[in-house]
Amino acid sequence: MSNAIVCLCCGQDKPSYDFRPGHQICTLCDTLSAAEATIMARATFSAQHKFMTATKDGRRQARIAAKLVSYETTGKRCTACHCPKPPSAYNKCAPAPDGLQPICRGCNELRVASIKNGGLTAWRTIRAALRASSPEGR
Ligand SMILES: [Zn+2]
Ligand SMILES: [Zn+2]
Repeated sequence: MSNAIVCLCCGQDKPSYDFRPGHQICTLCDTLSAAEATIMARATFSAQHKFMTATKDGRRQARIAAKLVSYETTGKRCTACHCPKPPSAYNKCAPAPDGLQPICRGCNELRVASIKNGGLTAWRTIRAALRASSPEGR
């Protein structure tokens, strides 16, 4: 089983002797013309994509990936300071719809520290000041 290799072209599990050394394309696919091989590889890729998005987890992964791409350009809005920030500014949070915490790492640290020192009221005061200096101004 450990000797089985997935052919990059046809996407099938094949024994290692069906591959020339260092090749990730099986000997059968090696005989295809470049155009035929491209068509075959595309079909394999879309079948894998369909399989991915056919499962609940696959759809979730695809949705998260799409969100992260949009966050890279527009940023994700922090629910505490109301500033758009890149995904790298957020801690991971697996149950969240986008896999990230709703508030940015900076706010999270401020929140923990202020609640520890002055309770929820202290955090609310800090949060209001952060929001006032955000692009939204509130
Ligand atoms: Zn193949
Ligand atoms: Zn924030």
